[in-house]
Amino acid sequence: MRRKIIAGNWKMNGDADLVRRIAEHAADAISGAELVVCPPYTLLPTAASHLPTGVGLGAQDVSEYPAGAYTGEVSAAMLLEAGCRYVIVGHSERRTLYGEDNARVAAKYAAARGAGLTPILCVGETLAERDAQRTESVVGEQIDAVLEAVGATAFSDAVIAYEPVWAIGTGRTAAPEQAQQVHAFIRARVAERDPEGAAVLPILYGGSVKPENAAELFAQEDIDGGLIGGASLDSEGFLAIHRAAVGG
Ligand code: PEP
Repeated sequence: MRRKIIAGNWKMNGDADLVRRIAEHAADAISGAELVVCPPYTLLPTAASHLPTGVGLGAQDVSEYPAGAYTGEVSAAMLLEAGCRYVIVGHSERRTLYGEDNARVAAKYAAARGAGLTPILCVGETLAERDAQRTESVVGEQIDAVLEAVGATAFSDAVIAYEPVWAIGTGRTAAPEQAQQVHAFIRARVAERDPEGAAVLPILYGGSVKPENAAELFAQEDIDGGLIGGASLDSEGFLAIHRAAVGG
């Protein structure tokens, strides 16, 4: 059976108060589906000390380099030392706003894995790419870049998040069947190189998930939970999404 995960990506939001509110509610939500919180770097120590031990802590980005003159960057070893188990790699905002291409994302992925972190690789197409029927070629290339850099078992002990760019922060969610189709494609693509790893790989859906639409998304065969942006900033809503994953 595949594990289910509900991960919250706070982006550049949140404060110590939000960490405390999530920590209070999270104590009731450590079974059935793993809860993961990815706050900004500066809140990692606060989160590490307040969150119950069953809750996973993650960062939102990582440097591809181990150390050195890279002003503003944070290495995988530093994240591990700060208490992280996870790190989001290749979020569409990093790809579009900061010019991270597939090769750079793959290098970051390799650095995270090399240090012992579990990467959450974000993949997904823009609306123009979907309209041009390029969803599978775009997502396939994003996955292949990691397989090339890390090898056939790159996705053992990892997580993929399918996040159609047109659904992130827009209030527009992929229809459950639409998302399922891409999730099944992702699992099949990984299975071409690593059938055993693909069978247990958690593939999360991300893009305007809220308590109202979570259950029908998570009921799909290949959707193993969610990467939640805006709705993860409301502790009660976030925990309601977690309940939907446990029941779904
Ligand atoms: C995200 O940024 O990873 C995300 C899924 O955002 P939202 O839930 O706000 O669409």
